[in-house]
Amino acid sequence: MHHCSEFRTAISASVDGEELPPGVTGAALDAHVRGCAECNAWGERVRRLRVLAAGLGMD
Ligand SMILES: [Zn+2]
Repeated sequence: MHHCSEFRTAISASVDGEELPPGVTGAALDAHVRGCAECNAWGERVRRLRVLAAGLGMD
């Protein structure tokens, strides 16, 4: 059984366009995020921060 911390590492990698950590598949990640409100919210936050950082980087 995976823990939220593992999925959050995977979410961060996914947002960065990096490979998922060993043992975490895209399907498992999707399933966890759909069922875990905390990771869902965390993922949204990471995406927003990345978009913001990308915007600042282009300036
Ligand atoms: Zn979770």
